[in-house]
Amino acid sequence: MPFKAYILTVSDTLAQAKSASDPIQTTNTSGLTLRESLQQHSSKQFSVEEEAVVADDVADIQHTIKRWIAGRADLILTTGGTGFGTRDVTPEAIAPLVSKPTPGLTHLLLSHSLQKTPMAVLSRPVTGIALHAPLPQSTPETQQTGAIIVTLPGSTRAVGECMDALLGDSVLQHALELVSGGSGSRQHASMQGPGGGRDGAKASHTSLSGTETDTGSARAGSGLQGQHHHPHHHHHHHHHGDHVAPKPRTEQSEESPSYVTRDPGGPASRHRKSPYPIVSLDAALNLIAEHTPSPRQTHEASIDRNLIGAIVARDVTARTDLPLRPTTNVDGYAISAHHTPPGSCRVSSSNARFEAGSVQRINTGQGLPSGADAVVMVEDTELLESSDDGEERYIKVLAQVDAGENVRKAGSDVKQGSVILRAGQRLSELGGELGTLAFLGYPKVTIHTKPKVAILSTGNELADIAASQQTDAWGFRIWDANRPGLRAAIESAGYEVVDLGIVNDDRRATIDALRRGLEEAEVVLTTGGTSMGESDLLKPIIERDLGGKIHFGRVAMKPGKPTTFATIPCESSDRVVFALPGNPASALVCFYVFVLPSLRKLCGHHASIAPSDQGRSWSVPRVKVRLENAMKLDPRPEFHRAVVYPDANGRLVARSTGSQRSSGMHSMATANALVCVPALDGSPGSPTQLQAGSEALAMLIGSIL
Ligand code: AMP
Ligand code: MG
Repeated sequence: MPFKAYILTVSDTLAQAKSASDPIQTTNTSGLTLRESLQQHSSKQFSVEEEAVVADDVADIQHTIKRWIAGRADLILTTGGTGFGTRDVTPEAIAPLVSKPTPGLTHLLLSHSLQKTPMAVLSRPVTGIALHAPLPQSTPETQQTGAIIVTLPGSTRAVGECMDALLGDSVLQHALELVSGGSGSRQHASMQGPGGGRDGAKASHTSLSGTETDTGSARAGSGLQGQHHHPHHHHHHHHHGDHVAPKPRTEQSEESPSYVTRDPGGPASRHRKSPYPIVSLDAALNLIAEHTPSPRQTHEASIDRNLIGAIVARDVTARTDLPLRPTTNVDGYAISAHHTPPGSCRVSSSNARFEAGSVQRINTGQGLPSGADAVVMVEDTELLESSDDGEERYIKVLAQVDAGENVRKAGSDVKQGSVILRAGQRLSELGGELGTLAFLGYPKVTIHTKPKVAILSTGNELADIAASQQTDAWGFRIWDANRPGLRAAIESAGYEVVDLGIVNDDRRATIDALRRGLEEAEVVLTTGGTSMGESDLLKPIIERDLGGKIHFGRVAMKPGKPTTFATIPCESSDRVVFALPGNPASALVCFYVFVLPSLRKLCGHHASIAPSDQGRSWSVPRVKVRLENAMKLDPRPEFHRAVVYPDANGRLVARSTGSQRSSGMHSMATANALVCVPALDGSPGSPTQLQAGSEALAMLIGSIL
C-alpha cells in the first residue's frame, strides 16, 4: 500500500489568482515540485491523494489539513508561509494540530538548507505527527497511527532541496512506516544497503530561504519543464474537493469569524466556526453594563490634584448654611435701614456693638453685625468728619437704602443639609468640584478606589519602541503601537496602568502574563491574537485556563469585530478582561467604545444623565454633527474617526481623518470623535453612503478645540 500523501500550497497570491481561466498548474511551481519529487523518487511508495491551494490564513490552512488528517493521511506536505513576513502563519496553523513534534526532521531541513545559505535561518519549519482519530474498534492497546506533517518554504528551489533531504536517504519513508504502525525494518535495511542511497538527489545550489515565500512568483526549479503534462498527474488523484476554493477575502485579518477550540477529542472533531455568535453593538454594550462589577472599595483622600478624575463615593452635603449669616456684597456701611434715612450719621467703631441709628464700616464678604439689615455702598456716602488719627467719625448717607439691600442672606448660597456633589460624580480637572469641596469646608472626601488596568500586547512580530535603541524599523518586525496608545488613553482617563509588556503568540507565555495582570489589576486588556484562527489563543485561555466567562466574542461593528469581553471570578471582585483586536486603530476605537464605559462603571461613575437606553449608560456621549465628507456605509455599523470642530456659526462639523483602515493607527491621530455610521441597509434603493452635509451622531472622545 502506498503512503497517502497530500500537498497544500499556502499562498495569498495563488489563492487569489486561482480561477478557471488561470489553473494553478500553470503557476504553482512549488506544489508541482512537491508532487514530482514524491513521484520521481518513489512513485510506488506514495499516492498523491489531493492537492489544494489556500491563502496565508490560519483557519483556511487548518481546515484543509484537518480534513486530510480525518481522512487518515500518512503524509501532509505544505509549501509557503514559513518565513518571517507578517502574513506568514503556516507554522502557527500547523503547530496546534501536531500531537508529537518531530524536531529531528525539522533539524534535518534546517541543517541541509543552512549548508546552502545562511538565509535558511529565516525559515521556520514545523514538523510533527498528527494522530488519527481512534478507529471505532480500537482499544487502548491498539497502535494509534498518524500523519507526518512537514512545512516547507514557498521557494520552489528550496522545496526541491528539502525534498531531496527528506527522501534522499529514505528518511521520510522510514518515518512513515513507523508512524503507520510498521517496524521500519524494511526501510532501515535499505538505508544500510547499497541500494539505499539517494536516487536523483542532485544537491542543488540554492536555499531554503524563508524570504522567498511567494510561491506563485518563484522561479521554477530545475527539472520542472513539462510540468503540465506530468504522466502521473491523473493516476493517483482522487480529486474530490480538490483545489479548495479560498473564501473571498472580504474580511480584514482582524475580523476573522474563525475560532478553533483545542479539543482533546482529536483534530478532526474541532470546531471550524466560532461558537461565539456575533452580537450587535447595543447588545455588547448591554452585556458590558450588566457584567462589569460595581465598585467595591472606597477611601478618603485630601483635596488636591490627585483627586482629579476621582469619583465621589457618597453624597457630599453642606454641613452649615453658606453664608453662615447675612453677609455684605459690597464695601460700605452696615445700617439698620429703618433707622438710617439719608442724611448725616455717626460711624461706630467696628469693634463696638452695632447701634441702630449709627453705621459701621464693613467690607465685601464680611458678616453683618447683629442689628444691621442693609449696607450702603461707600460710593453712596460722603465723609463729613474724621479724628486726628484718621478714624471716620461722621458720614453723610446719600442714598435711600432698603432692608436687605446689598446683603446675601444666611444660607442663600447653600442651605445646610443640601446635596452639593452626588455619589458617582467625577471630580473634574476643571476645578469646579474641588473648589466646591473646599468652599464647603471639607479637607477630605470619600472616593471610589479606582481599578488598575493591565495592558498586554500579543504577537511574535512585535517590537517595543521604548526598549529599542534603533530609530529605524527592523523590516520584518512591527512596532507595538497598542501599549503606548492605550496607556495614554487609560492614564488620561485617570486610571493607573500595569504594563505587562509584549508576549509571543504562545499559550504558556500568554497565560503567565494574564495571571500577572489579574493579580495586579482589576481590568486586563490584551491586543492581538484575534485574526484568522489566531483567536483560538485567547478565548480558550480565558475560559479553560483562567476559569473565565466570555460574554461576547464577536461584535457586529467596524472596526473591532473580534472584540471579546469576559469576566473572571476572583475573591475580591470579578476581574474584567477585554481581548481587543491587534490592529492599532481598532484597539483604540474599541477602548473608547467598550473599555471606557466598563471602567466608568467599575469606578463608580454614575450612569449617564441622558435618558437613553441602559447599555449606553456609561458610554461617551454622542452629539449631532454635520459631515464635511461623505462616509460610505458598510454592512456593519462603523466608527469613523473624525475631527469635530465648530463652524463659523458655532455648529459642530465632523471632518474625516482619512483612510479608515484598521491597520492605520494614524486615523486616530488628531481624531476627537468617532462618527457613528449606521450599517448599510442593503435593500434596493437604500443609500450606500452618508452624504457630505448630512447629519450624524458622533461620540466625543476628546475636547473640541
Ligand atoms: P492579530 O490579531 O494579532 O493577528 O493582529 C492583527 C494585525 O495587527 C496584524 O497585522 C498585527 O501585526 C497587527 N498588530 C497586532 N498587535 C499590534 C500592536 N501591538 N501594534 C501594532 N500592530 C499590531
Ligand atoms: Mg498577532
